Amino acid sequence: MKKRILIIENSEPVQKILKEALEGSFEVLFTKSGREGLALVGEFHPQLVIIDQLTPHLHGIEVLKKIKALPEGPKIGVILSTWRALIQDYRIALEQGAAYYLIKPFSIATIHRIIQRYFEGKLEPAPFPLHNLNAINSIENYNPTVPSNVSYIKFWGTRGSTPVAGADYSFFGGNTPCLEISHPDTIIIIDAGTGIRELGAEVMHRRFKEVHLIIGHTHWDHILGFPFFTPAYSHQFEIHIHGPKGFGSHLEDLFKGMLDSDYFPIKLTEMQAKISFHDFNNDEPLSIGSVKISAAYACHPGATLCFKIEIADKKIGYVTDNEVMIGYHGHPKGIDINNPILIADKELIEFFKGVDLLIHEAQYLPQDYRTKVGWGHSSLSNAAVFVKNTGTKNWIITHHDPSSTDTELHMKQQLAHQIMVDCSYDCSIQLAYDNMMVYL
Ligand SMILES: [Zn+2]
Ligand SMILES: [Zn+2]
Repeated sequence: MKKRILIIENSEPVQKILKEALEGSFEVLFTKSGREGLALVGEFHPQLVIIDQLTPHLHGIEVLKKIKALPEGPKIGVILSTWRALIQDYRIALEQGAAYYLIKPFSIATIHRIIQRYFEGKLEPAPFPLHNLNAINSIENYNPTVPSNVSYIKFWGTRGSTPVAGADYSFFGGNTPCLEISHPDTIIIIDAGTGIRELGAEVMHRRFKEVHLIIGHTHWDHILGFPFFTPAYSHQFEIHIHGPKGFGSHLEDLFKGMLDSDYFPIKLTEMQAKISFHDFNNDEPLSIGSVKISAAYACHPGATLCFKIEIADKKIGYVTDNEVMIGYHGHPKGIDINNPILIADKELIEFFKGVDLLIHEAQYLPQDYRTKVGWGHSSLSNAAVFVKNTGTKNWIITHHDPSSTDTELHMKQQLAHQIMVDCSYDCSIQLAYDNMMVYL
């Protein structure tokens, strides 16, 4: 009388091999489902069951356990088969009483040998292969590396007005504005907010020693970190500080004043780096190697600059402080560039037309903006109108209000999406956070 073998196997090519190997010599029954296979054990009374480890409905290990728990279970041999040979699964299969752990793919000859040994009572489980038999062999190992000339921007500080600290700010961070723009052999930084302290520590280890620091305007949040910018204390460094001609004192005098002995123990003249100051107005772009930076005035107290950066064939707008549509609290939908509401913003919108990425503040929720008109910052909905009219498809919001906690900022991101839906404009929106990198 022929021995009975039940095969629970979902893969048709494997079924075919087993059929070829076993039919004729054995009575063989096939099924694809673990649950059905288990039911068939009671009807077909197999001496041997070959189960794939991950059969549909009930996986192979569960079927194995259930078979072994049957009164006749100890006498039924079970072979577990698998494409995904993992030593942990191998151990469990043997612990649960599998007679063999069969790794796919296998040949007809292998099956013949194993089944014959089983019915002779001589089948021992093979040790788990050190070099996984079913691992896909490749000709050589793939070792990808990051190219050294990768272009990126990195946000070292994203908080507006004043630094914040504490558990409520741990996701977005509390450093005031500082943006690094990658460059093959110099360091370009916009704003010296408190984020510049950490950047400075990193810059100390870099190969090149020339730094271009561009200041959009000299409100505290944009210069506060400078005294803690370590390269300023090293004679190896040359630091060019570019900034607008303000309405009041000259940039150099403002830095001198900030480092006056009443405020700070080390004077600007005592810093060891070679520091020079340069006027940066919006008439001529600044070219640093292949990076070109042009500026325009934002709507913010004093002569505040915002920037368009051309790098790696991309154009990026960077606007940390800009009040769009002063005093407007209405719906943002349908306000196009020719709408009189945008008359004061039109020139700046034209300046940023077609940028690949626009980093633009939106410090206030529309509800909060009602009491903050004239403070020099935008409501989320007014900023959305600005972004939409530039035509950009990528908006990063930065210069977060110091009162905004992580929870509130996550909510603000959702609200920004909703506002764009209300404006019928499709645009990717992200909220910047400290240490966020954007690869170009
Ligand atoms: Zn600011
Ligand atoms: Zn400001």
